[in-house]
Amino acid sequence: MTTSPLKLASRLDPIKPSITLAVTAKAAKLKAEGVDVVSFGAGEPDFDTPAHIKEAARAALAGGGTGKYTDVGGTLALRKAIAGELSAVHRTTIEPDQVLVSSGAKHSLYNTFMALIDPGDEVIIPAPYWVSYPDMVMLAGGRPVVLETREDDDFAVTAEQVAAAVSGRTRAIVLNNPSNPTGAVYTRAQIEALAKVVVEKDLLVISDDIYRQLVYGDAEYVSIAAVSPELARRTVLVDGVSKTYAMTGWRIGYTAGPLPLIKAMAKIQGQSTSNPSHLAQIATLAALTGPQDCVAQMRAAFDERRQAMVRLLRAIPGVTCREPKGAFYAFPNVSSFVGKRSPEGAILDDDVQLCDWLVDVGKVAVVPGSGFGAPGFVRLSYACSMANIEDGVGRMARALATLR
Ligand code: PMP
Ligand code: GLU
Repeated sequence: MTTSPLKLASRLDPIKPSITLAVTAKAAKLKAEGVDVVSFGAGEPDFDTPAHIKEAARAALAGGGTGKYTDVGGTLALRKAIAGELSAVHRTTIEPDQVLVSSGAKHSLYNTFMALIDPGDEVIIPAPYWVSYPDMVMLAGGRPVVLETREDDDFAVTAEQVAAAVSGRTRAIVLNNPSNPTGAVYTRAQIEALAKVVVEKDLLVISDDIYRQLVYGDAEYVSIAAVSPELARRTVLVDGVSKTYAMTGWRIGYTAGPLPLIKAMAKIQGQSTSNPSHLAQIATLAALTGPQDCVAQMRAAFDERRQAMVRLLRAIPGVTCREPKGAFYAFPNVSSFVGKRSPEGAILDDDVQLCDWLVDVGKVAVVPGSGFGAPGFVRLSYACSMANIEDGVGRMARALATLR
């Protein structure tokens, strides 16, 4: 049998396109066509990158030398800054050699799974999960083991659930704290209980901390790596500047972890992408070592928007919404609208159809919960202006009120 020269690799068969990026792209396309759409799709701060960070990049560019390759894993100056910051946050000692800088935290996660996972290895992923984890595990040949959590438990996975899910093939658990999409933040007691089971079951923790500086009210970020030296040895820290410093487009993320893993990831990076953009590394160094009041200012703005969005969502009959305590997403339950009929006569059979209808008819873009392993929910990013929040949630309320 002959195969077409264009036959695609079978490893792609189970892989879906990123729904967060798809919804964002659809809203952007409609806007470009002149359609007035409010988008809550992208998990991306609306703020511009702070001025002192842009200035550091501008000055470096003017000075010359920034158009060159750097060490595959990032400049020593940047890895030192990252090692210093993460050592302090996680109360452990991280050497610059234990840090790998990549082209976004997404790339860091991808390298991590590629370096760790053999065909058939299992990775525990609590749901609702960020869209890309299961697909990355599958691309690496592994099997995502998804654990459902309960809305009533604030979407926290329990130590008992993790213990029960461990098999002879389990390698790691992904912990995304604060969570995209739910905004849930694990309490100290929950982290300590999970830490215990991680040691008992001999697991690795892949701790995606990209939102750790975005927590609100009395919630606090608790590091699982800081629980004990044993946990520090078992934790792979994934972090970055995209969300904290409004630097999504600069594409810098980083991983800190056990040296053999970091070296393996550097080998992958050295044979695939080489170093992340030199100029973006310079900007990142300025972000990490410069004044931090920009972070507090953006956090305060997100907090205000969070409260407004939750209040407006809760006012919609048929919608319930738990309080998100971190990141910049609200994750309301809209299951009471699934199966209803639109004025145009369509039955909206699931949250994906509901979201398609909301953007086409209601002119408001939200991401279906199914993409996060949570059908019946939708995700709205509140990293946008207050005017957008009021206008967009208003559109959602008016559209939902027409469903029968
Ligand atoms: N992890 C989570 C939970 C995220 O929401 C994102 C969002 N982009 C990423 C990782 C990747 O971030 P980036 O590649 O922009 O650094
Ligand atoms: N992480 C963001 C989100 O969840 C950006 C899109 C993506 O990388 O998936 O919306």
